[in-house]
Amino acid sequence: MSLAADASLAFRVIPSDHARSEAERDRILAGELGFGRYFTDHMVAIQWDAERGWHDAQVRAYGPLALDPAAAVLHYGQEIFEGIKAYRHADGSIWTFRPEANARRLQRSAARLAMPQLPEALFLESLRQLIAIDHGWVPSAPESSLYLRPFMIATEAFLGVRPARAAGYYVIASPAGAYFAKGLAPVSIWLSREYARAAKGGTGAAKCGGNYAASLLPQQEAYANGCSQVLFLDPVEGRYLEELGGMNVFLVYRDGRLVTPALSGSILEGVTRDSILQLARERGMPVEERRVAIDEWIEGVSSGAISEVFACGTAAVVTPIGQLKGKDLAVGDPDAPIGPVTLAIRQALTDIQYGRVADTHGWMVRLR
Ligand SMILES: *Cc1c(COP(=O)(O)O)cnc(C)c1O
Repeated sequence: MSLAADASLAFRVIPSDHARSEAERDRILAGELGFGRYFTDHMVAIQWDAERGWHDAQVRAYGPLALDPAAAVLHYGQEIFEGIKAYRHADGSIWTFRPEANARRLQRSAARLAMPQLPEALFLESLRQLIAIDHGWVPSAPESSLYLRPFMIATEAFLGVRPARAAGYYVIASPAGAYFAKGLAPVSIWLSREYARAAKGGTGAAKCGGNYAASLLPQQEAYANGCSQVLFLDPVEGRYLEELGGMNVFLVYRDGRLVTPALSGSILEGVTRDSILQLARERGMPVEERRVAIDEWIEGVSSGAISEVFACGTAAVVTPIGQLKGKDLAVGDPDAPIGPVTLAIRQALTDIQYGRVADTHGWMVRLR
């Protein structure tokens, strides 16, 4: 089957017969949105099987999926996902950020999980279709957005261990306020020395649910120690920084350098990470992508050579890290004010995403 045939799949739109009223929707959007708590009235569903390829593209009421209890996803975890936002600009138009990067990453994740590749154009069209019907759910408050969650699951009913021959691709959407409850206040991070989120040769570079499942126990440990996220080290030596459970990490040096762990094969290649690297280079900041030992962080923060640390990802954008905690370890100040570099990078990125400055990179794609 050609990619062109896939991309031109016609969507059948079946409007929900229980969509919330405009008043109800506006009441939800005006309240505390949190993250991933409310969902819009519709979702996208596209089916794939080995014989027909991608087919049966629908926009339909948001609601439960009917899955055979033997569906492969429920047993062997064949699942991948994406995270991308729709932003409302001041003139009411709705945009998204670098969707082709997410489309390509979904394809790489699919390849690693032995799942079918969704054509880039079909990925973009799936977002457009959902926004066409649920655009009223894109909030307009500052720093708010509609978080889009495309995902793919193996649906074939078969318990043999091999790549499934049937899959479903879906997009759901959730209006989002600021990601962290405390807003832009610095967060404390828990250093996990006992657990890794991904193995050498494993699925760390793929955006799959299994990586998150592996991160939840150490995440629980983080909460128990007053931290909101976990920092994972490399799975081989347990010495080098990798990333947080769902965000990449950057160190800012007092001398102006911006340092982030090089992609190792077990680090997820964040679109936010890549965009920050580009913006920093354009601003003339010396940028280093390399291995970073955890001792460099600890010593650098203690000596003052490292002036700021932050995490980044689509959901939380850029989040300052105040303190790194671990067993017999506490470096940094949990109440430190947000550093100027962290703030400037966050501002530069969100200015582009919310259309407050010209998009000189061609990163923004209009959805409506
Ligand atoms: C999604 C994700 C990120 C951030 O990627 P963005 O494209 O910037 O949102 C970082 N790490 C992990 C493990 C992720 O799943």
